[in-house]
Amino acid sequence: MNKYQVVEDYLDELIPNPKCELDYFNDYSLLIAVMLSAQTKDSRVNEVTKVLFSKYKSLEELKNADYNDIKEIVMPLGNYTKKAFNIIEIARRISDEFNGVVPTDREILETFPGIGRKTVNVFFVEYLNIPAMPVDTHVERVSKRLGLVKGNASVLEIEKELMKNIKRENLGKRHLQLVLFGRYYCTAKRPQCDNCELSNMCKYK
Ligand code: SF4
Repeated sequence: MNKYQVVEDYLDELIPNPKCELDYFNDYSLLIAVMLSAQTKDSRVNEVTKVLFSKYKSLEELKNADYNDIKEIVMPLGNYTKKAFNIIEIARRISDEFNGVVPTDREILETFPGIGRKTVNVFFVEYLNIPAMPVDTHVERVSKRLGLVKGNASVLEIEKELMKNIKRENLGKRHLQLVLFGRYYCTAKRPQCDNCELSNMCKYK
């Protein structure tokens, strides 16, 4: 059995029904939540978006929001001044340029403030069910420790390697499993190696 199959079987056993831990209710709420999650825990983003989207209930309201008020709401998050600006600008662009619907073209989406390749990949795979592999810090760490990718691989190289080796129909599930495995088991500090069935193939010392 190849190493991908071993890892995927184990992840299916350990995390059979992975779910995205960011709360969202439609396309723009997911896009904004993912943008806000940069360098921040999902649970903290959820606390903020709960307040944000209950106060500003539409794109129209968000794009016309007072910057200082949005800034205050997102203050618990890192880099909040920029994130506050991004929220208003993203809402404005979706509302004014795309009839209130988040565009599904990668090149267009990556011109939105605060939206990079990883955010687009999350939006694609989570909301549109388009095959993609967002590589965050957890996916990178776990993939390198398990030798799924080279130790010096860049984020883009990791994305390509995982996309090449994981079946397209499984990418969404595998992405979530790798994130959750990294978040709760194979943590950056003190990973739970004693209970890990992948320890014999792991490069972590
Ligand atoms: S053995 Fe430890 S470091 Fe390696 S994959 Fe398992 S939990 Fe992570």
